[in-house]
Amino acid sequence: MVIKEEKSILAESSENEVVTYDFPYTSRSEWDARPATEVLPLPTPVPYVKYPVRPAQERSKMKLLLVVLLIAMVVGVIVAVPAVMLSKKSILAESSENEVVTYDFPYTSRSEWDARPATEVLPLPTPVPYVVIHHSATPAACYNKQECKAAMKSMQDFHMDGRHWWDIGYSFAVGSDGVAYEGRGWKILGAHALYFNTVSIGICVIGDWTNSVPPAEQLKTVKALIAAGVELGYIKPDYKLVGHRQVRETECPGQAFFDVVKTWDHWSPFPASHEDLVNVPEISDDYKDKYLKKSVL
Ligand SMILES: [Zn+2]
Repeated sequence: MVIKEEKSILAESSENEVVTYDFPYTSRSEWDARPATEVLPLPTPVPYVKYPVRPAQERSKMKLLLVVLLIAMVVGVIVAVPAVMLSKKSILAESSENEVVTYDFPYTSRSEWDARPATEVLPLPTPVPYVVIHHSATPAACYNKQECKAAMKSMQDFHMDGRHWWDIGYSFAVGSDGVAYEGRGWKILGAHALYFNTVSIGICVIGDWTNSVPPAEQLKTVKALIAAGVELGYIKPDYKLVGHRQVRETECPGQAFFDVVKTWDHWSPFPASHEDLVNVPEISDDYKDKYLKKSVL
């Protein structure tokens, strides 16, 4: 709003005119301007203003847009941070028919080795305090995917058809090809170490390791698999590693290999034999009774 005292509303302020604006205004004379040395007239009215002033409505739209952007950023951070944390975990997520898995070691899921479905399953209470190391004795060591798939299938057939178990007994098996093969997996109760299945994950190192030791690549994957189990929360961080012979009368996992297992981190001399099972605190009284009565052999 301009209060015109002499010329037009937008008349130029000059020495001879008094203009009153409705906003704070300081004329040339008031800020002690030097006179211009020359002037040219500006054709008016002008179509442009160098610093365009947005209409109030547009300004409020901009404010709204900024607020929406800010909210989107905050929501984005809230959603993205847990998503990134989850995605770290999903890198090592468990394999199953419905999940995509990527381990940082070679891995073959049940469906990839054409596993037969389990006839029945029971949940394994996790995290488990023990990892039991086995060898297969038979089948012999396998050195490529084709041989190892065949080994997995023959073990599953023997366990299901010969022993009438619900599935292959082991939680996992590892071939001399350096590949981990999914057996019952992390969450299903295994059938690999009598009276000890409820407290352990059982890993079969495919081959007969009585007189020779598994190749380095195979052992590396066994260790990586155990580490993944710990990272995923299925194996206790302070787990104890034992050979099958420490919980059952058996030569498993073979003398030569057992001598290697005894050098690994987490190997525990207890239990030393199946007679110690009654002193394993994690085994339920029910299983201890079954063991003492030898109701299942
Ligand atoms: Zn065994």
